[in-house]
Amino acid sequence: MLSFTIQNVLIATNDDYVTVDVQVVDGKIAAIAANLEVIGTAIDGKHKLLLPGFFNAHTHSSEMWQRGIMSVLPLELWLAELYDFAPLDIEQVYLSALGTAVETLLSGGTSVVDHLVLIPGQELETIAIAIRAYKEVGIRAFIAPLIQDQSLTAGIPSGESTQNHEPYFRSTAATLEIIEEAVKKFHRPDEGVSILVAPTGIQLCTDDLFVGCIELSDRYNLCRHSHLLETRAQEKLAQEKYGCTAVEHLQRIGYLSDKTSLAHCVWLNDADIAILSETQSTVVHNPLSNLRLGSGIAPILKYRQAGVNVTFGCDGASSNDSQDLLEAIKIGSILHNVTDLDYQYWITPRKSVEMASLGGAKGLNVADQLGSLTVGKQADFVLYDLTNLSLLPRTDPIGLLVLGRPSNVVNSAWVNGKQIINNGKFTTINVDELRQELFTRSQWETKRKSETVAQIETHYRTVMGL
Ligand SMILES: [Zn+2]
Repeated sequence: MLSFTIQNVLIATNDDYVTVDVQVVDGKIAAIAANLEVIGTAIDGKHKLLLPGFFNAHTHSSEMWQRGIMSVLPLELWLAELYDFAPLDIEQVYLSALGTAVETLLSGGTSVVDHLVLIPGQELETIAIAIRAYKEVGIRAFIAPLIQDQSLTAGIPSGESTQNHEPYFRSTAATLEIIEEAVKKFHRPDEGVSILVAPTGIQLCTDDLFVGCIELSDRYNLCRHSHLLETRAQEKLAQEKYGCTAVEHLQRIGYLSDKTSLAHCVWLNDADIAILSETQSTVVHNPLSNLRLGSGIAPILKYRQAGVNVTFGCDGASSNDSQDLLEAIKIGSILHNVTDLDYQYWITPRKSVEMASLGGAKGLNVADQLGSLTVGKQADFVLYDLTNLSLLPRTDPIGLLVLGRPSNVVNSAWVNGKQIINNGKFTTINVDELRQELFTRSQWETKRKSETVAQIETHYRTVMGL
């Protein structure tokens, strides 16, 4: 059913709402106006709000297996613990990708950027199975295979000491070959699956890896993704590694562009912000993860004033510990009311919605096709039930959605004109079966000890002055 007409639905105008009909033909928005002729199936939009689908613009799906149990630690130590307990199998990757897609959709997201952790030796299989999961659910998937070419300890600054790091288990060239293979096999934007080049960040990647990714990005027209300056330790490390900021370095080697989205961006100075603006790079704001790991508060209001495009991500579920996009949008918006006295710059609910939709589309270079309710764009949108208790009494629908605590408010969702959720239920997969699988393949846990954390903690504390 790629052609349908939603009747009498509320949509947002510049500063108000209107009731209209929305015609979708062959997966694209064909018309938006009052009293349109019904094409295809008629869908009742009464007492419902239609918004463009949001982008969960940065996450790591397989972290779902460790949500709720990770120690309360800063990123560098948290990562060590994560990887000590990370060995996953292909089936787990499949299930957590399903779970990530479901939770994203139920909180208004129709696209996900999965900075996907690859199982060593089964890299292409990992990518294939995650794509299978996303296709089964029907969410639009941007797969950013997470790559690095330095071992974990290289991500901590040396300080006064001399540190030796084990070489990474796979060569830079071999890693780039895997990505190129993945692009050839799986990059099908027209079918809702895109591959991104996605070195994990300056903390664990050489310039060779970044430059190789730039070449692939240019050759195959791929978007670029990376973590950037998530922690104070990374800010220090950049100075040790390059003698300048990470942003200056990434600009110098040519990684920043209007196709580049950068997760976190907490520790940037004013000159760095000007560079992001100049290069038209996108910042992906992951407020919950930044709070959970004590990384800091990203200067989002400064980015916006400098004209930098900003959108939202949940980040992986073990630093969040959920994939509720509406929650990330809420916290990521009101958090900044405490960082900037001048309330004229605070983020309004309507701005939040625009950042989450059009902002995401811009960051993935698809703003001409996605991110707003515009005739000619793809029908990726979400219908919210305005009679839900959490959206009552009737005031401002977008205000309720962004600032409230909406639960079970998604009535329907479509991607590329295909209906994925109907009346609150998935039409594509059996969510009860997914719950059962997640339940049986896990167990209640309380105590576990990370050996790697024990090995590196003393050095981390010294170098961070703790
Ligand atoms: Zn991340």
